Amino acid sequence: MSEVKSSFMLERHGLDLRFRFVTLSAREWLAPNYVRVRLTGADLEGFASLGSDDHMRLFFPAGGAEPTSVDEMRAAPSREYTPLAWGDDWLDVEFAVHGDQGVAAPWAASAPLGSLVGVGGPRGSAVLQGEPGSWMLVGDETAIPAIRRFAVLIPAGVPARVVIEAPSAADQVPLDAPVEVEWVHRGEAPAGSALVTFLDGLTASDAVGEDPFCFIAAEQAIVKPGRALLERWGVDVSKAVVKGYWKRGEEEYHAPH
Ligand SMILES: Cc1cc2nc3c(=O)[nH]c(=O)nc-3n(C[C@H](O)[C@H](O)[C@H](O)COP(=O)(O)OP(=O)(O)OC[C@H]3O[C@@H](n4cnc5c(N)ncnc54)[C@H](O)[C@@H]3O)c2cc1C
Repeated sequence: MSEVKSSFMLERHGLDLRFRFVTLSAREWLAPNYVRVRLTGADLEGFASLGSDDHMRLFFPAGGAEPTSVDEMRAAPSREYTPLAWGDDWLDVEFAVHGDQGVAAPWAASAPLGSLVGVGGPRGSAVLQGEPGSWMLVGDETAIPAIRRFAVLIPAGVPARVVIEAPSAADQVPLDAPVEVEWVHRGEAPAGSALVTFLDGLTASDAVGEDPFCFIAAEQAIVKPGRALLERWGVDVSKAVVKGYWKRGEEEYHAPH
């Protein structure tokens, strides 16, 4: 029996959990409901994020007395975000702003510059080793930072699709990729529904290419159709990422790892 020999794997790496105190230093709106913020502070020295879909935990202390110890900071509400880019003393993060619900999105939209925020992690990474034969990156707004990090790893000429759901054309943000990003619009329909329709419409013969790396992340409802696609395409789940990044109606959703 002939077998396609796979040329890549996802390798797990652990990082020592570090906890950092930083401040909000800049905010740039990329779309009406999508904002990039810059966090700065000397604590960021040595910050590392090996995997493109790593997450860290951001802690948002409410007004009043600012935490002065790690224990106090840990008591603040926290949510998971993707490190987008960083340097010795800065870290950029992008937030999908979804109305005034929750903690993180309203903070990203309107916290005063200079606000204190805690950064925990990332504590573990799945690192792509080798070269996938093709790439399939699919997500909603919350997955754009991870998709940005994966997209720049795609070598020119390798078969790839990058498919992102947003409410409308006005919500699209610029994204560097060697292929044209395919935006699907959900309009007023529930988040994820346009991606579910897209994934369900892909047959075995629509496979993006040989030996694909698939990253599929959006509202939790994406997981079932995402896994079904892997099965139709004969993709080993241990070499793909299919994840709910948030769950409708649930605060502080923890994605299973
Ligand atoms: C591994 C990982 C990486 C992530 N990276 C990012 C990232 O880089 N950028 C990013 O924006 N998000 C990212 N997320 C998603 C983010 O953690 C959640 O959206 C988080 O719930 C937002 O917190 P909140 O305080 O704003 O809302 P919560 O208090 O958690 O939720 C309040 C309400 O808002 C709803 N809600 C939460 N998120 C959304 C949304 N996006 N759209 C509509 N309704 C929503 C909830 O269902 C709930 O009803 C990531 C999640 C995971 C698991």
